[in-house]
Amino acid sequence: MNRVTVQALREELSGLHLAADAAPDPAVRAGHFREAAYLALDLGDPARAMTYALACLDAARRTTNRSLQALAHVTIALVMGDVHDDVGAATHFREAEGLARSARDARGVAVVSVNASHHELERAHYASSTLRLMSLLRSPYASAVQADEEGRGLDQVFHMNFTRGAAHALLGLSPDLPDLSAQLSGAREEISAQLEVSYDVLRRCYHHEMPLANSRWQPDVLEALLIHARYRASWTEAQALADEWVQLAQDWNVPAQLGRALLGRAALRAHTGQWEGVRVDAARAAQDFGDEHPSRALAAQQLLAQAHAAQGQWQAAFEVQQALSTQADRIYRAFMQQSARLRVIERQAAEAEVRAEAFAEAALRDPLTGIANRAGAQRRLNQMRAAAQRGRSGAVALLDIDHFKSINDRYGHAAGDEVLRRVVQTITRAIREVDLLARYGGEEFLLLLDGLTRAEAFRACLRVRQLITEIDWSDVAPGLQVTASIGVAEITAGQPQEAILREADTAMYEAKAAGRDTVRLAHGH
Ligand code: GH3
Ligand code: MG
Ligand code: MG
Repeated sequence: MNRVTVQALREELSGLHLAADAAPDPAVRAGHFREAAYLALDLGDPARAMTYALACLDAARRTTNRSLQALAHVTIALVMGDVHDDVGAATHFREAEGLARSARDARGVAVVSVNASHHELERAHYASSTLRLMSLLRSPYASAVQADEEGRGLDQVFHMNFTRGAAHALLGLSPDLPDLSAQLSGAREEISAQLEVSYDVLRRCYHHEMPLANSRWQPDVLEALLIHARYRASWTEAQALADEWVQLAQDWNVPAQLGRALLGRAALRAHTGQWEGVRVDAARAAQDFGDEHPSRALAAQQLLAQAHAAQGQWQAAFEVQQALSTQADRIYRAFMQQSARLRVIERQAAEAEVRAEAFAEAALRDPLTGIANRAGAQRRLNQMRAAAQRGRSGAVALLDIDHFKSINDRYGHAAGDEVLRRVVQTITRAIREVDLLARYGGEEFLLLLDGLTRAEAFRACLRVRQLITEIDWSDVAPGLQVTASIGVAEITAGQPQEAILREADTAMYEAKAAGRDTVRLAHGH
């Protein structure tokens, strides 16, 4: 098993970041960013993890793969859970579950459930975590956690979470809502049986009889085995596991991990009455958690006060407790700031998304007249070609303003611009909601007429030509007269876009040749 150190984790993280930035395939990019988010969490950097989680969602949304999007939401939920934003976490877990279900992705649904159970474990909601995993086992999605064919260890995470939750819950250590205890005792036998199955898998991983899918899970295995040893009242074994856990975290040299291990050992020592040991571990854990994980630091401090009190060190207990209450405000504020920081990052991402959509929208618009541009027209034309394939009729008309160059020359460019705008206004008012008028080029417009036959389109264009001649230009320039030449072509099934446009263009030139201010129908093909 490769060695994990804070240095190795940091290197792996920057490697992932580079790989993600370089990957042209958004699905690959999403995968790298997701892995990077988990690494940043392990390193105790939730703000960085959030940035990666959002980049993962962004990449996933560039694919049509809803399973991938579901995984991205799971990642965001875990980051929010890490800073105790339960509402945020619940929102993203729900989003993830909806996506996975709509994609009929059994493994995805299982992933959401296993991760949501982890979130509950972190809240010490052991009963709900256990009941959630039990219902996953009874569901049609169970196969994904019984043997993870993709070899990414979802089954192992399931067993870790289940062992941790069920052993705590069966020990009666679960401070969940009381109404869960009835459900828990109802399923007690089933839970005990599954606990043995899960424990056996972890034991085999621990003894290297089965490879662990991810070496970063070593502390989680130790944590789960430790609580199981407590459950069996094997105190010597529990003590050895706790020591091993602390040793491993020390080797890794990641403060948040070390704090966790120390807190785990302190809780065990408190249970067996080794208060001097509790005092040492809790004091160090409080230090290791620091401001990054204020609520865990708080738990460590409380254990420290308890240890002093148990040893009759009343003055010290009083001082820690007093420091705690004065610190509580600071800790609370640090916690709020941490959550707020993530919310800001999330909001910025949401705003960037809105802006990106606006840019995409603007890219399809003509700034002078506000109507669709050539790209917008082509997009609609392709939709209409697809509709023609299903038997729907439709037509395109290419409209070119007559002698526009001389309008510019004679009345000025500003008047020319006004002509373009007013012609657009006139046509827009004359056509239906389902039609599209687009600026195709300088003084050329494309009119897309949905559902009309060639004869109907021809009649519509005659009306448009007439309306243009009736525009009142007296306020723009005295004596100004504007006309247009229009070529109409039908959209027929299977015809390439260029062929349709060429037909309309030819018809338009025929209208010009016929003396302008005229509508011509394409001959068809
Ligand atoms: P025809 O009847 O044969 O179509 O003659 P025309 O003068 O309309 O055709 P031509 O293609 O020779 O000239 C088009 C002119 O449109 C040239 C160009 O300067 C002008 N034009 C293109 N875009 C704009 C614009 O945005 N504003 C203004 N004012 N003029 C523009
Ligand atoms: Mg022209
Ligand atoms: Mg022209």
